[in-house]
Amino acid sequence: MDNTTCIVDIARYFIAFCADESCGLCAPCRLGTVQLEEILNRITGGKGTLEDLDKLESLGEVVQQTSLCGLGQTAPNPVMSTLRHFRDEYLAHVVDKTCPAGVCTALLPVEVTVGKEK
Ligand code: SF4
Repeated sequence: MDNTTCIVDIARYFIAFCADESCGLCAPCRLGTVQLEEILNRITGGKGTLEDLDKLESLGEVVQQTSLCGLGQTAPNPVMSTLRHFRDEYLAHVVDKTCPAGVCTALLPVEVTVGKEK
């Protein structure tokens, strides 16, 4: 990973994997991973808010503390650690509506050229 990697998109990728792998036995993992994925989809889709960052943290903690096995207990780790260490990238997505790595297509600048066509 380098500066062309979007850390929010990476977190979304890992939580999507865990949501797919959840066996569904317990609700915190079955529902919580899907909700975390939905929030991250909203953020990478340009519709995230500051409130979503708080929801990621509080929901992530609930999933970690109440899931029955290691999958659910560790599933939120990429979300929680990227929020802790790369919060500025999350803020760029939800406040500035930009993706610093240029990965999230919904947040890429749109250039309109007005002029004569040949
Ligand atoms: S935490 Fe474990 S037991 Fe619970 S739904 Fe996830 S994979 Fe299944």
